[in-house]
Order: sequence, then C-alpha cells, then structure tokens
Amino acid sequence: MTCNRLTVVIAAFNEADSLPLLHPRIRAVVDALAHEEGIDGQVLYIDDGSTDATWPLMQQLAAADRRVALLRLSRNFGKELALTAGLDRVEEGAALILDADGQDPPELIPQFIAKWREGYDDVHGTRMEREGEGWLKRSTAHAFYRLIGRLSKTPIPADTGDFRLLSPRALEGLRQLRERHRFMKGLFGWVGYNRISIPYHRDPRVAGRSKFNFWRLWNLALEGITSFSTAPLRLATYMGLLTAMVAFLYGVWIIVKAMLLGDPVAGWPTMMSVILFLGGVQLIALGVIGEYLGRLYDESKQRPLYLVDTWQPARPARPAEAPNEGDRVQRLHGSRVD
Ligand code: UDP
Ligand code: MG
Repeated sequence: MTCNRLTVVIAAFNEADSLPLLHPRIRAVVDALAHEEGIDGQVLYIDDGSTDATWPLMQQLAAADRRVALLRLSRNFGKELALTAGLDRVEEGAALILDADGQDPPELIPQFIAKWREGYDDVHGTRMEREGEGWLKRSTAHAFYRLIGRLSKTPIPADTGDFRLLSPRALEGLRQLRERHRFMKGLFGWVGYNRISIPYHRDPRVAGRSKFNFWRLWNLALEGITSFSTAPLRLATYMGLLTAMVAFLYGVWIIVKAMLLGDPVAGWPTMMSVILFLGGVQLIALGVIGEYLGRLYDESKQRPLYLVDTWQPARPARPAEAPNEGDRVQRLHGSRVD
C-alpha cells in the first residue's frame, strides 16, 4: 500500500437528524487514524437531493473541517447512484462506504484499514445481527441474499450491505462499470480481487426513519436479480416447455378418448381451464421478457447516471495553498457528468 489516503463516502437523503450524531464519531476515528497510523482521512458527504436541512448542515460541517468534501446531486437519484457519484470523486487512495444513519459503526474503520494493509481490495462488513428492524424485513432480506447467491454467477456475499472498503484498484475497476441499473452489491462482487468479510453487529438507526420501504426494497431486489442473472428468462422457457408437454399429453388423451368413446360435445370447463392456464403462463413469460426489455431500453438511452449540483472538494492541509472559496466550490449548472 503506497497511498495513505482514505475517503469515507457517505450518501445521505434527509438525514438532518442523524448527521450531527454521526459526524463527531467519524471525526474521532479519522483523527485517531491520522495520529496512530499516519492515514490522511477525508470525509465525502453526498446529498442525494435531500429536502430537509441536510445540505446546510453538511455545509456547516465542511466549513468547520477542511477534510470534509461535499457533493450535492441535482435531485434524489437513490442510494446506488449517490454512492456511484461519490466513488467517482475519490481520486486517490481507498474509499470506505458508510450509511449516514450510524447503522454501520465508524469505530470499526481501523479493522477495515488493517485488512487493506494486509493486501485486501474489498473488505466488507457482514451483519451478524440487525437491530431495530422488524422480523419481516430481516427474513425477506435473508431470503433475498440466499436467492441471489444461487441465481447469480457473480459472487454476492450474503447479509453484506454497502459497508465496505475498496482499494484504489477495486475503485478503478468499479468506475468502469457504467450501467444504469446499478445493484451496487453485485457490482462490488463483479470487480473481484482479494475479498474478505468482517462480521459486525448492525446497530439500529441513531435517528430518523428508514428510507427503504417494502416497495423500494422489492424494486431493489428485482434490480439485483435482473442485473445479475438471466435465470428468470430461463425459468420462463422451462415453464413454457413444461406446459407445452402437459398440453401435448392432454391432447393425445383427448384424441384417444374421442376415438374410443366418441365425441359427446361436452368439455367446456376443461377447455376454459386450459385456455386460462395457458394464457396465464404466457403472460408470466411475457412479463419476464418485458422486465429485461425495459432495462435494455433504459441502457440504450445512454443517459448520464446522475447530475451534480455542487462539488466542493476537501481543502489541502496548509492554508497558504488553499484557493479561495469561490474557486473551490464548483456549481455545475446543467453540465453533464457520467
Ligand atoms: N439513502 C440515499 N438516497 C436514497 C435513500 C437512502 O442516499 O434515496 C441513504 C440514506 O441516507 C442512508 C443509506 O442510504 O445513509 C441507507 O438508507 P436507510 O438507512 O434508509 O436504509 P436501511 O438501512 O433501512 O436499509
Ligand atoms: Mg439504515
């Protein structure tokens, strides 16, 4: 490891209640790392289009601490894109991703760094327990990680969120993946290199409410499965084959029966049920194809992944070198960033 820079990347959407509680904890860790390990730590906050006091709060934090960099997106793009935007801005050293709500304890950062020092590129926190989350969320999350683990050829570690450290070369690899439908946990897995997991205890949120309701989680799960597996397409094919076979056997049976017993025009119920059944199977298969087609359509539009409203890098260590505020804060009006 030649470079000693570490950027803590935090995407926040309406986290005005949690940030003031989280920031001092991060600062304490970054200070300790600077003293004990000579690590040049920075914090990059991404405001993912918050509508509460998150942005002014972030500006206060940046004004008080030169190591705080800020990125504000033009609207709410969702966590996956906000993280992408942040990671795109990490030019040097490693990045460590943290949730803004204190669920991923910053006090564990030194453990992640130790693994980075040992030569690991992707150090990820694996949850042993999830506190403050209902059984329904826990059990569906559990089932989802098992399902995607079986369906996807890309290694996606179970019960592992975005709490992780990425080495410079892992970051470089990730930056080359510019797909629009971003299931970050899968993208991290795709990058590969030396990976290791650190088991940790996931705390409840320090304040505020979860931004992921069931509908958003369901969509994230769909995103994960369709981005990293074509198994549902194959499933549609198998279902089609199976029904075709059953229909064929049934057809043979009807013909044989008609030849042996004659044809007493009855059978409206059977006919209806066969028609409905086949119609249902076809609709399912069409829907599955539609999901993939829709994603193909989105990719083909080649839109930028996100737009940046304001980019304010951290300030260099010596005040003499620091440019004045006007040069430092870059407002990008309508400019394209992808
Ligand atoms: N987040 C974000 N954009 C969004 C939704 C969430 O940047 O559109 C951030 C949020 O501020 C938090 C992290 O993503 O830092 C995880 O969100 P949350 O805690 O609501 O999810 P949960 O932990 O309940 O899965
Ligand atoms: Mg959370």
